Amino acid sequence: MNPTANYIENLLNVKDPCLNFVDCSQTTYKGRKVIMCTAIAELDTCPNCKSADYYIYNGFKVVHIPYISADESNPVIIKVKKHGIFCKNCELYSYPSTQIVDKYCHISNAVKRKIIVGLTKDHSMTSIAEENGVSVTTVQRYLDNCSAQFTPSFDSLPEHLAFDEFRGVGRKLHFICQDGEKHTIVAILENRFKNTIIKYFLQFPEIVRKTVRTVSMDLNCYYGDIVRQIFPNAELVIDRFHMVQMVNRSFIGFRVQVMKQLDKKSREYKLLKRYWKLYMKKYKDLEGSKQFYDRCLKVPYTPAQIVDEGLKCNETLKNTYDFMQDFVYALADKDTKKINDLLDSNIGQYCERLKTTIRTLRKNRRAVINGAKMSYSNGCLEGVNRKIKQIERTAYGYSNFTHLLKRIRLEQNIICFKKALNRRVLFSAFIKHM
Ligand SMILES: [Zn+2]
Repeated sequence: MNPTANYIENLLNVKDPCLNFVDCSQTTYKGRKVIMCTAIAELDTCPNCKSADYYIYNGFKVVHIPYISADESNPVIIKVKKHGIFCKNCELYSYPSTQIVDKYCHISNAVKRKIIVGLTKDHSMTSIAEENGVSVTTVQRYLDNCSAQFTPSFDSLPEHLAFDEFRGVGRKLHFICQDGEKHTIVAILENRFKNTIIKYFLQFPEIVRKTVRTVSMDLNCYYGDIVRQIFPNAELVIDRFHMVQMVNRSFIGFRVQVMKQLDKKSREYKLLKRYWKLYMKKYKDLEGSKQFYDRCLKVPYTPAQIVDEGLKCNETLKNTYDFMQDFVYALADKDTKKINDLLDSNIGQYCERLKTTIRTLRKNRRAVINGAKMSYSNGCLEGVNRKIKQIERTAYGYSNFTHLLKRIRLEQNIICFKKALNRRVLFSAFIKHM
């Protein structure tokens, strides 16, 4: 091999024995400045019958293959001059084929791999198209073709599932279900209607559905019915964060209600309004000994004193605050007995909103207790929902649900595969399906 050929081959990282590089220069191609690498492809035997008895054509069949380049403003194009032959033995015409590009295809496999890598990252399809010198439609087509990797198999389900929803195409809510342990996405459905969810999960045989042990969710009233119907052995787990959030909001709502009845210049009003953050903290974390001078109230106070003083103005507010604090501590300590006691306490002493919350929690008592004692939660799903939001933002929104779905699956599931597999092997597998 001559030194030029060797140099160009190494530069482009093309290892194809049938290509012989002869030149590399800057020229204009279709009105653009490009780096054109010329290679000659020749056959030494007939690919059909392996006979070495042939005529060589006079002239070449020329193909231009766009190749990956480090600088997008200066694309690399491999110009392959193919020498055809006519076999005397089997009387057939044949042309050499190269490994850098598939048959009937002019985009090289290296570019395809780069497009797929781009699709797994937080890049817009337009920027991927520009980077690789292809059209947006081509990128979209590869995204569509990736779906072969995500055909759902109905022969297994993870033991721990997490249910939630997210806002997607056209501000609609979509249902999402994730593996609670491995954090891979199990299903994303176009809407969150009961019928859609049941219809989807009924595609799994009963024996598979019986393997599901826990399903964690927020306090959405109808998910519970669905789980009982389709997963006979599953325990419901209410997400801890959502329970705390409900109780906290009850307190905040009532605090504002109490404040509105007070005179805006009164001490109580200032205590409730100015220091609202202190009420949301854990009482034990409040500083109890070190006083600071409050310019507004013109007296020295410790944060714990402020909370105590503020709550003095209303008995119900104090009771609601105590419930909130006890509930947060009980959840943190996984104290199921304490939670049961709290739910059984006399609800007459609390504000209206908390009464409703407690009634809801009582209705789902078993799931609430499970949420307190088990380690499963919807935390992983909230992370995925944030990622989905980012995917939608990068693309300035999706109008096609299928495209959004494929993009989410590519970006999320690849993170889970990445650790286990060699990236090159992984992305080559995607191309095989195209
Ligand atoms: Zn032949």
